[in-house]
Amino acid sequence: MVDCGAIAAALLALNAQGGTDYACKASPAGLAVARDADQANHYLAALDSGHAAFVAQFGETPGPAAIIQGNQARAALAGPLEAAGYGRVLPWVDAVEEAQRRRDRIRAQIEDQAPGLPEAQLNALVERALGGQGATDEPLDPAVEQAAIAHELGHLWYIDAFWPDDRDAPAHYGGHAPDWLDEMAAVAMEEGPLLETRREQLRDADGETPIALDAFLAMEHPLASLGQAARANLADRNNSADTAASGGMQVLRLSGEEADEFLSQAAIDPGSYYVMARGFLDYLTARAGAAPLGELSTWMRGGGTMETWLAEHGAAHGLPSNTDLLVADWQVWLDGA
Ligand SMILES: [Zn+2]
Repeated sequence: MVDCGAIAAALLALNAQGGTDYACKASPAGLAVARDADQANHYLAALDSGHAAFVAQFGETPGPAAIIQGNQARAALAGPLEAAGYGRVLPWVDAVEEAQRRRDRIRAQIEDQAPGLPEAQLNALVERALGGQGATDEPLDPAVEQAAIAHELGHLWYIDAFWPDDRDAPAHYGGHAPDWLDEMAAVAMEEGPLLETRREQLRDADGETPIALDAFLAMEHPLASLGQAARANLADRNNSADTAASGGMQVLRLSGEEADEFLSQAAIDPGSYYVMARGFLDYLTARAGAAPLGELSTWMRGGGTMETWLAEHGAAHGLPSNTDLLVADWQVWLDGA
């Protein structure tokens, strides 16, 4: 039974303790907790749309999931949610906590440079520094945020449905499927302007895709190696005891400057990789009627490859029988699309 009852007591305690007004909203796909009811409904719509997309793409129904705004609520609710059978709890960005984090960082810097300042003076300096650098990051477009939530849920559900042994293994970027297939499972959950942007970026002015298809199918996710370094860095900053207490999953949000620095280290623009995942999914869908993502995943879990799958099952799905022919047919599709 999916409803907010299982966390009602914990939610009450959280609000009583913090003087907050977190709200819970539920649907058959799971529940969402946010600082107000509108925000919870906003998350829930993303959960519902992702859930429907996953069932349509994979023919598997994910277990109930929860989306929780911020690390504080997540820490308070993770236990009761787990006990109630919510297999996946996704913490999401909380602007209030982001602002506090910025404030704490600036305060620490000032205390470092000018130890022993009276509290009032310190506070005044913190406020002045905050005002100077802008108190908040640009908020996400709500529709893009919903697509991003569905994307993250797609990764989690995909692992649960096809690679359950990898649930807690951090070795690969997302799960232990080939990276392109893992990313495609998540991109397949996206809707709205994010999806449209990816499609628009599939070909440049010269008609070229950002990555050649055979390279895309063979390469590692551009964030694979960077992801682990960033995670270690983040665990450090957040204090590992805190990370462990909340189930090892924290909201990961870099400031604009940190994100630019982080992404500039990738050999290939990571955005290109998502564009290719969407493009190849559209190609498979066009050729096969429905993209055979579930069948492909099962095949690869059994040790198969794209090459062996195409040879044995490609024709049954309207696809070529080897990778060379696939690359050629992809180009035919691109030129006709
Ligand atoms: Zn992803």
